[in-house]
Amino acid sequence: MNKPQPHQLITLAFFLSFSLTNFVVSARFFPNVSSWLPDHAPLGGAWDAFRNLTGCHRGDNYDGLANLKSYFERFGYIPHAPPSNFSDEFDDALESAIKTYQKNFNLNVTGVLDDSTLRQIVLPRCGVADIINGTTTMNAGKQNETASSSKLRFHTVAHYTLFPGMPRWPEGTEELTYAFNPGNGLTDTVKGVFAVAFARWSEVTSLTFRETESYFSADIRIGFFSGDHGDGEPFDGSLGTLAHAFSPTNGRFHLDADEDWVVSGDVTQSALSTAVDLESVAVHEIGHLLGLGHSSEEEAVMFPTISSRRKKVVLAQDDIKGIQFLYGTNPNYNGSSATSAPERDSSDGSNSSSSSCSWRLPFPCSHDMVNSVYTFIHYRIPRVYDIIIFII
Ligand SMILES: [Zn+2]
Ligand SMILES: [Zn+2]
Repeated sequence: MNKPQPHQLITLAFFLSFSLTNFVVSARFFPNVSSWLPDHAPLGGAWDAFRNLTGCHRGDNYDGLANLKSYFERFGYIPHAPPSNFSDEFDDALESAIKTYQKNFNLNVTGVLDDSTLRQIVLPRCGVADIINGTTTMNAGKQNETASSSKLRFHTVAHYTLFPGMPRWPEGTEELTYAFNPGNGLTDTVKGVFAVAFARWSEVTSLTFRETESYFSADIRIGFFSGDHGDGEPFDGSLGTLAHAFSPTNGRFHLDADEDWVVSGDVTQSALSTAVDLESVAVHEIGHLLGLGHSSEEEAVMFPTISSRRKKVVLAQDDIKGIQFLYGTNPNYNGSSATSAPERDSSDGSNSSSSSCSWRLPFPCSHDMVNSVYTFIHYRIPRVYDIIIFII
């Protein structure tokens, strides 16, 4: 049989994608993806235009700076204001925001939009703000803050942070239930990714997690949504913000339905520049659901950004300290994660796919499968349906 031509495969992929526009949801499979999908250099993210601002500094007036101010406002670096209030002038407020951002992300604090700062800004990230109510940072600077500091809206110890008021699930909570938005029609494979992500947190604390079918009574409610979905935190299509979750005891966990989510296989070997590792994002957002804010520790899963095609799922010591501060230690936890290592942070191009995935995925999976097959899900859910679900 003749090998399919690239244009034939692209046509087929387009047809399959289009066929998924009604409600939800099945997986898109891309066997041997690297053999025919082009590796686009640009990330195609929502914030790519910011790259044009390289070199801007105080006093400049440059088209696009107003949008950058909106970005900083969204993540807590500039006080809330109507979008129309933002001009394209590089003013003192913007310089201050850039300096705080640079400190949080361990960059040189220059107040200038240098290349390294902009490269960080355009990375895909969590939609939860780094600074809440404008009064603290992500505990950057490698200095411990005291728990009693009344000026801090985040309580901070080490580098992890907690939400203002230190919300947590009630004392004595042993088990939290979680459920999936029934409108998403998720497969067991996708649900299994979340189960593994929850297990990473229960390994180090006494909390356990149990899936339930009862979406509206579950403690944690997980759903994929597209664009504006009614909570004032609209998603933005491919890359940009990937997901967000609310602090305890709200329980809402939303993921951007328009990402190219990878649910199995080695995301670091994907040829698709927009591939996002579902488990990595899930582990991070569960941290928020349990009460953790963002950390300036780059190795922590609670660091706000994650590149596409990157996997970061193993809790760092900073994450573990944070969650154990809130919920105590799992008596069976021996101080080192049994689920650590081989796949962690393997975005350096090294081939880490020799690691078995059978222990962490809810279905049998051979090494060959890891090497050759990437499983993507790409949710396309009508916005009207999103709204109905939200109202319900
Ligand atoms: Zn986050
Ligand atoms: Zn949301």
